[in-house]
Amino acid sequence: SAMRDEHIKKTKTVCTYCGVGCSFDVWTKDRKILKVEPQVEAPANGISTCIKGKFGWDFVNSEERLTKPLIREGDHFREAEWEEALELIQSKMTHIKEEHGAESMAFISSSKCTNEESYLMQKLARGVIGTNNIDNCSRYCQTPATMGLFRTVGYGGDSGSITDIEQSDLVLAIGTNTAESHPVLATRVKRSQKLKGQTLFVADLRKHEMAERADLFVQPAPGSDLVWLSAITKYIVDQGWQDQDFLEQRVNQLDEYISHLEPFTLEYAEKVTGISQETLIHMAEKIAKAKTVCILWAMGVTQHLGGSDTSTAISNLLLITGNYGKPGAGSYPLRGHNNVQGASDFGSMPDRFPGYEKVTDDSVRTKYEKKWGVSIPREPGLNNHEMIEAVHDGNLKMMYLKGEDMGLVDSNLNYVHSAFEKLDFFIVQDIFLSKTAQFADVVLPASPSLEKEGTFTNTERRFQRLYQALEPMGDSKPDWQIIQHIANSLGAKWTYSHPSEIMEEAASLAPLFAGVNYDRLEGYNSLQWPVAADGTDQPVLFLDEFPFPDGKAKLFPVDWTEPLSYDEEYDLHVNNGRLLEHFHEGNMTYRSKGITSKTPNVFLEVSPELAEERGLSDGTLVRLTSPYGHVKVECLVTDRVKGKEVYLPLNDSGEGAINYLTSSHADKDTDTPAYKEVSAKLEVLREK
Ligand code: SF4
Repeated sequence: SAMRDEHIKKTKTVCTYCGVGCSFDVWTKDRKILKVEPQVEAPANGISTCIKGKFGWDFVNSEERLTKPLIREGDHFREAEWEEALELIQSKMTHIKEEHGAESMAFISSSKCTNEESYLMQKLARGVIGTNNIDNCSRYCQTPATMGLFRTVGYGGDSGSITDIEQSDLVLAIGTNTAESHPVLATRVKRSQKLKGQTLFVADLRKHEMAERADLFVQPAPGSDLVWLSAITKYIVDQGWQDQDFLEQRVNQLDEYISHLEPFTLEYAEKVTGISQETLIHMAEKIAKAKTVCILWAMGVTQHLGGSDTSTAISNLLLITGNYGKPGAGSYPLRGHNNVQGASDFGSMPDRFPGYEKVTDDSVRTKYEKKWGVSIPREPGLNNHEMIEAVHDGNLKMMYLKGEDMGLVDSNLNYVHSAFEKLDFFIVQDIFLSKTAQFADVVLPASPSLEKEGTFTNTERRFQRLYQALEPMGDSKPDWQIIQHIANSLGAKWTYSHPSEIMEEAASLAPLFAGVNYDRLEGYNSLQWPVAADGTDQPVLFLDEFPFPDGKAKLFPVDWTEPLSYDEEYDLHVNNGRLLEHFHEGNMTYRSKGITSKTPNVFLEVSPELAEERGLSDGTLVRLTSPYGHVKVECLVTDRVKGKEVYLPLNDSGEGAINYLTSSHADKDTDTPAYKEVSAKLEVLREK
């Protein structure tokens, strides 16, 4: 709205960083960002934000922003006009499709982009090119959580609202560094523990802030969560503490599931996980007796060979104790990116249309084929992981990737980089010349969230609108416009003039979003899916039924997969995760002074024991080497880690980037890389 000084304006937006989905007003004067002002009516955060939401915006005006398309010439890029870049893309894509077919082309959507942009990217892949080769970076984090929830309760999202967590009797946080990764959500837990007597249990390898605050903190052996979760569940059943009424009325496969729990005795769990039987009994009793239990989890659970199975075990425990379908209870897989939920919700997945309808379902496919006037393959496409394999095998020739730094965030980087080099044609769309963009043939300049309109969906399935605060910098454009230009250059006749029209189309096709429209999302209004045609939404899922044909949930038996083992030479276990101040590879936060002035670089956390043994102190420069590559980083001695456990924040884009160490091994059910199963050896390069 116009203020007294007409250049000063206030625009409602949604944070571009994590999945909590804080919304707030941003005050700008021309291109200058004056301040961020949270409002009471913001549904997820009220008047709170964290340091990133408040001070992490300088990147928007960075001199390193891409303002023109770039075209590769030998080993450098030259600036080009849009027309030339689009012509080149049109001719290369047409040629590759004619020569090698639609299946030789792949598309990667972005969890930083809007729902509407995710919808268009999959429409381009399926509706214009004719392939299901489309994925997004939730493949790197939360797809196993979605899988675990699909198997058991039918919807892959948080089962309640963020504010509901405050009503919970007991919160169990597993493999989530919540205070740093989801700060505003963590604040709610901290407050409830203090003011409402909520019990907090934390299971993690590392003694982070939530662990310090926990009523009980356990440090299971790496990759063993499924074992202690199953042992607790078995003990609850053995004691007759399960919620029998809930199980009888609302859950299938109880007997089959219980017999499958047989091996998970307390003795076995103690042996595998290192958690004492006494502690396991204490946890089982507290969880069974609590009126409501929420389980929060993140990448410490999902990024393993058995990440989907452990997520399933979490959901099984919630079912056994009747902790679904009431406020203050349920599953909270915490989404990383601001729109990682929405990227999958809107069909940027190789096997799902928007709203999670399957591409193998003939009637669903027919619905899209009719609407778009094309034919869509019945076979699911390639996921991110399979795309890299397919390039190495010579089957994939072209990739169009937007807003994702796959060349830093995928695992086994040396392998990924050599795949990029093999592509016939590689289009990267970003706001910066990212690591990945450096491998591209054409780089397209996109606009960040403050320069566009659209919607994001946060971790609690909540749609929120963002409004345009700034004009796109230079010749950069919002992603939805770029995708439309490319589609139309290939013969499509799209005429979207505003993202609201894209949402209208998506809502008309996907029953999960039937009642979503921009009027209902005006200002700070929001909706949590599923949204019925009349606009009724569902803050708490499963109140009456689960989305399966008979309305009942399913207990789903799972087995333990042992984590990767390494040669003795690689004697340290390298855990990894986030830092409060930085976000992922740091493309945005390292370009924000408000952040770098506080935390300029990452460091390797080493235990006091290891420091003593190897002569390490704060600032010692070391090289870590795994069978896949190496990193160079300075040490920080801290008791947050113990023994031979070291911790490397994942927020580095240079010589300390964690993914030079990780492998191509992945969750067996979803292909999510086993980022957390890394071992390495350490050499000192320079004393402090
Ligand atoms: Fe942004 Fe997440 Fe911080 Fe909220 S908690 S301000 S959404 S980074």
